[in-house]
Amino acid sequence: MATENGGEIMDIYVCGICGHEYNQERGEPDMGIPPGVDFSQLPEDWRCPICQAARSMFKRQ
Ligand SMILES: [Zn+2]
Repeated sequence: MATENGGEIMDIYVCGICGHEYNQERGEPDMGIPPGVDFSQLPEDWRCPICQAARSMFKRQ
């Protein structure tokens, strides 16, 4: 993934159902997702840990 100006781009994705935020910097430790994993790299069957919404329900913030 390219970065601009050498800065870090930290994407945050928000669940369209419950508002849960997936923060790449934090990962999802409770689900075995380590910090630094991009949203697009999450398993296809990954779901919102709060409301079980599918990945497609998340929107990039
Ligand atoms: Zn949710």
